[in-house]
Amino acid sequence: MDVLISGASVAGPTLAYWLHRYGWRVTVVEKAPAVRGGGYPIDIRGTALGVLDRMGILQAVRAKHIHTHRLTFVSRTGRTINALDPGALGGGVAGRDIELPRGDLTSILYDLVRDDVEFLFADSIATLHEQDTGVEVTFDSGRTRAFDLVIGADGLHSNTRRLTFGPEEQFERYLGYCFAGFTLPNDLGLAHEGITWTTPGRFAALYAPGCTGTLHGFLTIARPEPPLAELRDRDAQIELMSRAFAGEKWEIPRLLDAMRAADDVFFDVTSQIRMPRWSRGRVALIGDAAHAPSFFSGQGTSTALVGAYVLAGELAKHDFATAFDSYEATTRSFVEANQALADGGGSTLAPATNAGLWLRNRMLSVAPLMARTGLLGRAGRKANSALALPAY
Ligand SMILES: Cc1cc2nc3c(=O)[nH]c(=O)nc-3n(C[C@H](O)[C@H](O)[C@H](O)COP(=O)(O)OP(=O)(O)OC[C@H]3O[C@@H](n4cnc5c(N)ncnc54)[C@H](O)[C@@H]3O)c2cc1C
Repeated sequence: MDVLISGASVAGPTLAYWLHRYGWRVTVVEKAPAVRGGGYPIDIRGTALGVLDRMGILQAVRAKHIHTHRLTFVSRTGRTINALDPGALGGGVAGRDIELPRGDLTSILYDLVRDDVEFLFADSIATLHEQDTGVEVTFDSGRTRAFDLVIGADGLHSNTRRLTFGPEEQFERYLGYCFAGFTLPNDLGLAHEGITWTTPGRFAALYAPGCTGTLHGFLTIARPEPPLAELRDRDAQIELMSRAFAGEKWEIPRLLDAMRAADDVFFDVTSQIRMPRWSRGRVALIGDAAHAPSFFSGQGTSTALVGAYVLAGELAKHDFATAFDSYEATTRSFVEANQALADGGGSTLAPATNAGLWLRNRMLSVAPLMARTGLLGRAGRKANSALALPAY
């Protein structure tokens, strides 16, 4: 069987690895000219750790673990409200869960499959025509190829989803926030820690993943409507954030200057993707393309790894139509439990009102006690381990 996978980040190469092992011929098309390196730190927890283990890369991924010791919450004036273990907040289990730079994970996955799988970089699917025997694909580059199946692993704004199921808006659950992430020099000497600043509807963070010369900066704002125009316009993104944080003190001027100077600004909405079905005909979706949970859940990478593993396993066992059904039947409740974790995310990170912020700060003051008694992050721990990984 010949499969085309769109997207070479987390879900795509994971699916490629397993399908190759099951004897499929795999082609991966990626819009970027190479696997995208760098990027923010991501978490891998619970069931997803078993996927890495079965791929033989758990130790290599664990070796990149960042060990973030402290997340400090400061007020508008920079006064410390509280400092917590960030792992405990999200339901992490010390010594088991992994946090690593996104680019380190994608490089490990790419290195695992690069010799066995065909990669088409700097290209994208332009059209998909399904026929009885397969799918005819035209690429932006002009080439045309036929595949038995096409799998979209192309993220929150999936091209494969748009071509197969229609516009994103019908599946998007906008969670009311947008954010800009970028890197800046670590002039503050921060190491293995993050500092977050919050006023109603606005959240800023400086994050030092490890002990390097680079910090990650985040600016997040509450916004009732998704900023559609800004999504496509870098200058408008900078302008939106500059206006939202204008006149503030603490490290905000440093963050705004760094954002304006950065060449790696990543601007997006906090949205989920909720679809009644993840496949149509010979096309299926995995990872964020199918069910982005938003970064408020901290579970996008884990659900992407698990979904890719299960889809490949089901395809190894069944015809594709049955496999698409059983892939959904196996993973949907796991995905939904993890998507539900995002519901409290906005009110923890950036409560939109004074009352919400007061409540959040009270919660922070009892958080250490809740962490000691196992109450803090209990929902997260339950959701991220909610699936027993099938054996294939
Ligand atoms: C700021 C931030 C913080 C996050 N923190 C966490 C966290 O702590 N924990 C966690 O688990 N998750 C986190 N996430 C989410 C996590 O990064 C994603 O959920 C995860 O990467 C999903 O992987 P994916 O492979 O499905 O999609 P993606 O990683 O989005 O990859 C999609 C790939 O498809 C490619 N592509 C896009 N369009 C096309 C096209 N037309 N043709 C070909 N290729 C295309 C892209 O270039 C990319 O390589 C965070 C996300 C953000 C933005």
